[in-house]
Amino acid sequence: MANSILSAKVLQNEAAAIAWVEARVWPNGPVCPRCGGFDRIGKMGGKATRIGLWKCYQCRKQFTVKVGTVFEDSHVPMNLWLQAMYLLCSSKKGISSNQLSRTLGVTLKTAWFMSHRIREAMRVVGIEPMGSGGAVIEADETFIGRKKGVPMARTGMGHKMAVMTLVERGGKARSFHIDRTNKAEVEKIINANVSKEAQLMTDSASYYMHGQFNVADHSLVDHEDDEWARYEKDEDGNERVDAHQHGRELLLGVQARNERRLPALQ
Ligand SMILES: [Zn+2]
Repeated sequence: MANSILSAKVLQNEAAAIAWVEARVWPNGPVCPRCGGFDRIGKMGGKATRIGLWKCYQCRKQFTVKVGTVFEDSHVPMNLWLQAMYLLCSSKKGISSNQLSRTLGVTLKTAWFMSHRIREAMRVVGIEPMGSGGAVIEADETFIGRKKGVPMARTGMGHKMAVMTLVERGGKARSFHIDRTNKAEVEKIINANVSKEAQLMTDSASYYMHGQFNVADHSLVDHEDDEWARYEKDEDGNERVDAHQHGRELLLGVQARNERRLPALQ
């Protein structure tokens, strides 16, 4: 018998569908969407428990993989979501909400909600570069969580995952998981995501210092020691902390605050 893609387990079974999404959202194991914790997380069991429910014992909140994704606030079983995605992506012309409603056996309202969310997710993927019109883009990386199967190291950040964050002043931010913090990796991310018109601001790590970035301007902020904040002079000549830098630090999160930086990899 032909092996129809429609009979795939992830399209037929809710638990399989959730496991499939979890493996993609959390390649290194579950991460609490509220506090960012990863090492004190337990799976909730029991008959009355929703499938895919986790509990973070650090902040004592429960969560599922849907939090922070296009599936958030929806009671539609995950395998139906995946069916909808398949239908929306597999035909050139897409599929109307009416058709989706009939095919999935959900109400028109639900079908409309699902196709709206899925289209929104696809639209965001077709991303325009950050910093168009000459905006300032700050780039920095931090180390979070733990790489799967890599034991805790007493020194260095080799066991942690590196995350690179790009922040547009007064605008949006994007984060990327990076395998290694080196010149090739940061060049790849910055050149793919930052506009040629942008003013790039980074620290003076060697991969930023020697990287080739297609931007209008690149300034290096020296933040050796504890002096991460950049000071700027106001009209009266008084020094003040640049609030944007502070905002970026907040974004990178408390976890990174006390961690030492990885020496540049060459
Ligand atoms: Zn938590």
